[in-house]
Amino acid sequence: MTTDTEKIFSFIDTYAQTTDKLYLEAIIEACGQWLSGEVSPTVSGSVSKEDIRRGIQLAVLKGMKQNAQPHHQMTPDSIGMLIGHIASKLAVDEHNLTLLDPAAGTGNLLYTVMNAIGHQVTATAVEIDDVLVRLSAVVAELLEHPVTFYVQDALRPLLVDPVDITISDVPVGFYPDDDNALNYELMPAEGHAYAHHLFIEQSMNHTKPGGHGLFIIPANLFDSEQSSLLHPFLKKQTVIRAVIQLPDSLFKSATHAKSILVLQKPSPEIVATPDVLLAKVPNMTDKRAMALFLQKIDMWATE
Ligand code: SAM
Repeated sequence: MTTDTEKIFSFIDTYAQTTDKLYLEAIIEACGQWLSGEVSPTVSGSVSKEDIRRGIQLAVLKGMKQNAQPHHQMTPDSIGMLIGHIASKLAVDEHNLTLLDPAAGTGNLLYTVMNAIGHQVTATAVEIDDVLVRLSAVVAELLEHPVTFYVQDALRPLLVDPVDITISDVPVGFYPDDDNALNYELMPAEGHAYAHHLFIEQSMNHTKPGGHGLFIIPANLFDSEQSSLLHPFLKKQTVIRAVIQLPDSLFKSATHAKSILVLQKPSPEIVATPDVLLAKVPNMTDKRAMALFLQKIDMWATE
């Protein structure tokens, strides 16, 4: 039996074969026509937001393969689900929760998290690539998620009120705009700043006191050349809550390995404890080990 996810993928894929547009543009067009009711996939009455997100995601993966975009890699579902799980545990008492993703790309990570939280949540998405913003905007409408988009360099001033949770699969590498980087504490005295450092600083600037930042970071973040700047910054401006190592098998090589960093913005009400959760995600295909791991995360989030 064909699932709703497959039907949605097949609807977009078939549409893309009928035009000579770039595949990503064809996805935007197909989703736009679905929204306006001109054409639509024949899904069941119980089609869920996750079915829609996954169906479109399969098409985006195909589009990205055809038109390789090394700097715009979509956050893999396995990582997105984990961030979604953590965010939903941290959001448990919140009503009208606000989210920010300053490097939103296709929106896949953001929508995975919004779907996982499930209740009233609004978001702001920032992305420098206008094609990706058009794509994520049409998907947000199909998912009926209230999202405000900004097409801009997220490290320039952002007109975004502080949010409850910032999530980001941060772009890794050097940030070329030294003049702008001078506005950040994490700008080194010599050479270019690391974009991933500045994204963490900018994200925490836009997170409410007591709110959280959930970042997908290079696994070697704390041992890099500029880590001597990062350590005092994190100590002074944030409370480190967790560093979760992702399985190596998810990445091409050990040098590409990533971890999840959970920070909290200090506030008079929160107590900074020295207990940082340092954990390693088990093999994700091992259901029992994963269940135990998620239990550990839930206990940590409750505390
Ligand atoms: N989470 C995203 C998803 O699921 O599609 C993927 C994020 S991808 C790893 C990083 C994104 O940051 C890319 O889409 C890239 O275009 C964007 N980016 C890089 N530098 C940026 C900047 N200075 N301001 C805003 N976006 C930027």
